[in-house]
Amino acid sequence: MSFESFGLASTILKGIQEAGYQVPTPIQQKAIPVLLQGRDIIGCAQTGTGKTAAFVLPILHRIKPERRLRALILVPTRELALQVGESIRTYGRHTGVRSATIYGGVKIEPQIKTLRQGVDLIVATPGRLLDHVERGNVEFSALNTLVLDEADRMLDMGFIPDIRRIIRKLPRDRHTMMFSATMPLEIRSLTREMLRDPVTVEATPSSTAADGLTHRVFPVPAHLKGKLLLNLLEREKAESALIFVRTRRGVEKLARLLQGKGHRIARLHSDRTQGQREKALSDFRLGKSQILVATNIAARGLDIDGISHVFSYDVPDHPDDYIHRSGRTARAGEKGDAVILMSPEEADALKSIEKHLNGALIWAMHPDFNYTEPSPTSGGASFRHRPALAPVEAKPPRSRNPFGRRKREESRRIKT
Ligand code: AMP
Repeated sequence: MSFESFGLASTILKGIQEAGYQVPTPIQQKAIPVLLQGRDIIGCAQTGTGKTAAFVLPILHRIKPERRLRALILVPTRELALQVGESIRTYGRHTGVRSATIYGGVKIEPQIKTLRQGVDLIVATPGRLLDHVERGNVEFSALNTLVLDEADRMLDMGFIPDIRRIIRKLPRDRHTMMFSATMPLEIRSLTREMLRDPVTVEATPSSTAADGLTHRVFPVPAHLKGKLLLNLLEREKAESALIFVRTRRGVEKLARLLQGKGHRIARLHSDRTQGQREKALSDFRLGKSQILVATNIAARGLDIDGISHVFSYDVPDHPDDYIHRSGRTARAGEKGDAVILMSPEEADALKSIEKHLNGALIWAMHPDFNYTEPSPTSGGASFRHRPALAPVEAKPPRSRNPFGRRKREESRRIKT
């Protein structure tokens, strides 16, 4: 899919070309056609997905440069205001559309001057915008488009009352878009108040994860990892799981534990012969083994469809390794689960992965699992902040939709 195929104005296409974009990101592919039709939208997307262009391009396409305020984009922070303002200038360079970027912590007079000259579009943080509204610097009567960006952060920062105050001043007949990385209850109820018959589109950051891939981390004492893994395999009905273990010995040990519990296992690591490795892969591919236990050797280059779960039994040292591991699931538009088992000793390594995932990592706890069982050898680190960890429940079991299973089985084939 190309930007041309959306039917955007040639002036906008020129701006996109100059920005160096060649193909639309997934959120752009999903959101732009919906927005060009004038439908309201809820976009579940965070920074890094290309969400800004997803709403800015249709706005630019639909407004004429008349210096009458048509569109308002509300953002939670000054940094985001500047960023979005910059994007508008980049994409809209050849459209003649004028915009103002309004935020607090700076002198108000230059902003008043810009507003008085007339603008088509405003990007603003809520507090300073209300200040301008109260001073009579902004006139909303011709406004027909509203965007609420990073709504969940607005909520965290206590801006929802300000948002409501602003919305009350806007024409009711308008095109509304809301973007939020997460959808807490308060945001859901705000969508019901603000949006008319919205279409929901979702995207995860393109640099880190495919669509449909969820990332969870389960903090667990090192000596209980095996037990927790067995529990999760059972609870989540993992149909086809790839489990990464740091060392060859670790692979062997875990494979014995899983085999002892009746799981059909294949093993892959560099101590095995070429023949053994090929057999392991083909058993896994054909579904003779439900689980492949492997060192990182299997993380790169391996292209197997239909893997439902990727477990990192150890936290990899580098985020890139984790991205390669988790990328073995949720391929070709399917859903997939990437799960990390993290012992207290691995908390530092996890931090860089968490940062890399940019808000996509969910902290999880298995509600029925005994995390306090002592180690047979005792000792070992424990979580200093355990009570505060992971208020999130483990996911409910996957549905056993027979169609989903058949589809997965059909598509289980190695491409390379
Ligand atoms: P955003 O999620 O809107 O903050 O965008 C994240 C980054 O992706 C920004 O640096 C954009 O310039 C860039 N970007 C947005 N859309 C595209 C695209 N279609 N192709 C390449 N880069 C893009």
